Amino acid sequence: MRRVRHLIVVLGDQLTPTLPSLAAADPACDRVLMAELQDEATYVPHHKKKIAFLFSAMRHFAEELRAVGWPVDYVKLGSPENQTSFTAQLAHAIATHRPERVLVTEAAEWRVSQEIAGWQALFSVPVDVLPDDRFVCSTPAFQAWAKGRTQLRMEYFYREMRRQTGLLMDGSQPVGGKWNFDSENRKAAPCDIFMPRPRVFAPDAITSEVLALVEARFANHFGDLAPFGFAVTRADAEAAFAAFVDRALPQFGDYQDAMLKDEPFLYHAVISQYLNCGLLDPLRVCRRVEAAYCAGSVPLNAAEGFIRQIIGWREYVRGIYWLKMPGYERSNFFDHTRGLPRFYWTGDSGMVCVDAAVTQTKEQAYAHHIQRLMITGNFAMLAGVDPHALHEWYLSVYADAYEWVELPNTVGMSQFADGGLLASKPYAASGAYINRMSNYCSSCGYDVKQRTGPKACPFNALYWDFVARSRNKIGRNPRMAQTLRTYDSFAPDERKRIAESAANFLANL
Ligand SMILES: Cc1cc2nc3c(=O)[nH]c(=O)nc-3n(C[C@H](O)[C@H](O)[C@H](O)COP(=O)(O)OP(=O)(O)OC[C@H]3O[C@@H](n4cnc5c(N)ncnc54)[C@H](O)[C@@H]3O)c2cc1C
Ligand code: SF4
Repeated sequence: MRRVRHLIVVLGDQLTPTLPSLAAADPACDRVLMAELQDEATYVPHHKKKIAFLFSAMRHFAEELRAVGWPVDYVKLGSPENQTSFTAQLAHAIATHRPERVLVTEAAEWRVSQEIAGWQALFSVPVDVLPDDRFVCSTPAFQAWAKGRTQLRMEYFYREMRRQTGLLMDGSQPVGGKWNFDSENRKAAPCDIFMPRPRVFAPDAITSEVLALVEARFANHFGDLAPFGFAVTRADAEAAFAAFVDRALPQFGDYQDAMLKDEPFLYHAVISQYLNCGLLDPLRVCRRVEAAYCAGSVPLNAAEGFIRQIIGWREYVRGIYWLKMPGYERSNFFDHTRGLPRFYWTGDSGMVCVDAAVTQTKEQAYAHHIQRLMITGNFAMLAGVDPHALHEWYLSVYADAYEWVELPNTVGMSQFADGGLLASKPYAASGAYINRMSNYCSSCGYDVKQRTGPKACPFNALYWDFVARSRNKIGRNPRMAQTLRTYDSFAPDERKRIAESAANFLANL
């Protein structure tokens, strides 16, 4: 066998032909290694659809590379060469090919980066770890931005990204005269408007083989495998995104915070699983949206709102992750210790809003942002659930979940467990917010108008109980002052009823 010059390890979320480690190599003398690993599929019990999506997208990417001349060692799960971990798989490949060097693009997650950091000491060949250029802001650039700031607010970081990319800029000024059109983006969706559905793709032979593998090996994991409709190639992911731009993006801004029963997607893009594994490029996606705005087919509040999610929030949470890891995963500002309620897996809590989010998560491996933040996240914080247990749940159940993006969203944004590094106040809300933004409450057995008692919406007493019990932690936050004043205006009897209602509900969880 011909001696291999560089052995290029391509990880499951690096499915990008222009990946730095591929760009630095040559198919004529170098070789690619990809592997489906049991350790990666089980370090948390990932949703069956997520495992199938990634294995199928990896197999298709290996074919894409072979088609342009790359020799690829693709090690399927269950094959005799399969070694269960990255390190063992690489040791096997080094022994087989005796490469001069190993090239790998840096891992997106701390856990994997630590494993890669150990390779140089284990193997006698040099190991080159190249920076990942698939983000708008590099980790050193984020660290430079963060240095010396007392507050790391996303809005200021986002403005920097607008200036740097030139997206929706008119010279040095934002197009439309404002950086942010969020105040126009909080409409509740009427039930009878047309909801476009995301594009789905019938499984081909490769995906069908993967589906059979996942059903056989991960039968005890959470989630429904069928029907499976994710795109698993770059071309199909781009087609799914194009369909979103044509059909849903014009309303994306208006109904970004809305929730409707039996409408899991509303006007959301449903592309995070494609972005996060490298099938879609974040900057290209934003330029396409900007072009739609310039062509007059999309209003500014929708285009700006969408671009902010990608070059603002997505880049910002990644920056926070690498700034604060390791240790960030153990943040627990409120010292919450409750275990995760069983209904996060079963969807049978009797609370229509919670059950809708969990049921669609089980079916689709997807829930949109407001469901994650204001339903399952909000409930967990009000109920005092251990943020680490909740983090493991979010990491398991969504097709787009990778620790670098999931952890800051869970620990920082939804649980305020980092004490306000990421969010300026806890995203805590009573049933009134959920009722305003959704149609869940009209079919719920609980009464959203009642604050206490057995029929009262649990979010109400839990919300006020959270405010009261967290006073020593949030009392000095100016954004909580009005809420605390409202609580203080309740009669002593009402405060007692709130405490009792919350305690009764939690005792039966
Ligand atoms: C508790 C919690 C956990 C989350 N876990 C994940 C996760 O594991 N993976 C993940 O990609 N997103 C996560 N998010 C962010 C967000 O909910 C998802 O990105 C979004 O729901 C994906 O659906 P979409 O593609 O339809 O997004 P859209 O609403 O259509 O938004 C477009 C894109 O913007 C980006 N985006 C939007 N909001 C965020 C955000 N807060 N952080 C990062 N990117 C954002 C995503 O890439 C998304 O595809 C989480 C949010 C919360 C509150
Ligand atoms: S009444 Fe309360 S529990 Fe029921 S759907 Fe509304 S907010 Fe959720």
